[in-house]
Amino acid sequence: MYEGAVQDLIDELGRLPGVGPKSAQRIAFHLLAAESADVGRLVAALQRVQAEVRFCVTCYNVAEGEQCRICKDPRRSDDVICVVEEPKDVVAIERTREFRGRYHVLGGAISPIEGVGPDDLRVKELMTRLMDGTVTELIIATDPNLEGEATAAYLARLVGPLGLAVSRLASGLPVGGDLEYADEITLGRAFEGRRRIDA
Ligand SMILES: [Zn+2]
Repeated sequence: MYEGAVQDLIDELGRLPGVGPKSAQRIAFHLLAAESADVGRLVAALQRVQAEVRFCVTCYNVAEGEQCRICKDPRRSDDVICVVEEPKDVVAIERTREFRGRYHVLGGAISPIEGVGPDDLRVKELMTRLMDGTVTELIIATDPNLEGEATAAYLARLVGPLGLAVSRLASGLPVGGDLEYADEITLGRAFEGRRRIDA
């Protein structure tokens, strides 16, 4: 539709999650009209994130360095792990200030439709963390939608034989929704009212 460079930019932006063709075009033209210092900061932020940010070797949250700041924090308790789908869910739960344990980021949820099975997620890595007996409680905070529920049920069955206390966030979260969009109060209450799953 457009000349080389502009079309390339629109194509690249259009590959980002949640950015449709119209938004891609709008962002591209916004960038074309922007001050070169503003564009420079965006380019620098992209390059920095690619060069410096990686996944925590322990919990797979985003991290600058080997481990994320949560895994490195000695004041947090080691006996409880909260399992989430994505790093953005860690941020959402941290905002509630209800949780002082560790996290495990799966990297998605089980979705037969999209061909995502347990092997595509960091399930094996979670099991490894649970093996030495330090962790006594697992809180499953996957999204309150079909995939999130399927993932929670799968994990509860899988860890059942380990004899941990397994709980799932309480209802009150918008069903079919995304954890990150829940407000702090709703998410905080869901956390407090989490219910035990008996596998
Ligand atoms: Zn970590």
